[in-house]
Formats: sequence, C-alpha cells, structure tokens
Amino acid sequence: MTEPITFKPKAKRKPRNAETDVFKKLDMKGGDKEQCWEWQGRFHIGNGGEQRAIITIAGVRRYVHRLVWELYNGRALAHKEVVRHKCDNTKCCNPFHLIVGTQKDNVQDMLERERTGHKHADVKKIMQLLEIGCSSEYVSAYMKKERDVEIDASTVRRIKRRRYYRFIEWEWGDKYALDKGYLVASDFRDGKLLPYAEARKGDEDGEP
Ligand SMILES: [Zn+2]
Repeated sequence: MTEPITFKPKAKRKPRNAETDVFKKLDMKGGDKEQCWEWQGRFHIGNGGEQRAIITIAGVRRYVHRLVWELYNGRALAHKEVVRHKCDNTKCCNPFHLIVGTQKDNVQDMLERERTGHKHADVKKIMQLLEIGCSSEYVSAYMKKERDVEIDASTVRRIKRRRYYRFIEWEWGDKYALDKGYLVASDFRDGKLLPYAEARKGDEDGEP
C-alpha cells in the first residue's frame, strides 16, 4: 500500500510593507486636518525620551513622519532637512502639522517657545478662544481652570495682537492685528508673518 500523498501548504511569507502601508497604522481622524494623527505602530525612543514613530519597509527602518511628509509632498527629503512638528506631538504624523526646515530653524523655534514658555497646543487653544470672541481676561481664567496653565491677560493680549507666537500660522489673528493697526504691511513677507525682531529691525519701541 502506498502512502497517500499529502501536500504541505507552503508557509505563507509575511508580506512586506510598502510605503503606502504607512496609512494603515495611522489614525487619520477621518481626514480632519486640525487633529493629530497618531501612529498606532511601533516607536523608537529618542535621546530626549521622545517617541518617534517607525516602520520597516523592505528591510529599512524609516521614521513615519518623514515618510508621510515625502508621500504628501511628492519628493524625497535630503538628509540634512529636518521635519518638525508644529503641534509638538512627536507621535503625530499628520502632514498638515509637519514642516520641513533646517536644524537652525528648529533651534529658533525652541528658543521662542522657551522665551514665552507655552506649549503649542495651549497657544492654539488660546487662539481659538480669541477667535470666537472671548476676552483676554476670560481666556486667562479659562486656561487656569481647564488646563492648569498660568497665563496672564496681558500675555493673551500680546498673542491676540500677534506680538507673541508669530511663528504659529493664524489667519484670523493676522487680519485682526492688521485691522487694528498692531501689524503693518512690512511685518509680512510673501504673505507670511515675519518674526518680530526681523520685521521691526531698528525699532526701539519694543513693546506692543
Ligand atoms: Zn499633530
């Protein structure tokens, strides 16, 4: 009697990731550009303890936020180009929260943040509240109560007048400050608000 022939199914090879697979593990919040799209896959812990989203594609480990930036912008990044998070959330890979710059820009941003000391997300919240018509005093009280953030009304007013946090894009704020005369045309270059020191070179009156 002959042995019945049995076929052993071939072991299925684990499919390799393609670049666009990156979106499978990204919580894209239904495409909402405002919200952070956090990575649901693996992370690499950076030197500062920050979590960096990673994915392995064809045997090469890539940073997800860089890859997403490349896919959205249709070009490869040079090694020296730094992709920064406008939202301060290193887990976020929302291409609308990512900007490319140099290490120098990165340092500039950090210095500005240190100077006034508030998180990007908190400043965005302040901007939102101002935009819907809240007074600076109300915003100051709200931030203390809801987020345990100490920010006095005069600082909120300076944000509203586009004196502080100019590096954060804010269309409503630009328009408000222009209408009220806190900003002038020379504060902008190519439609972009310049840092205060650059726009007001030689201007001795430093305070708004
Ligand atoms: Zn984000």
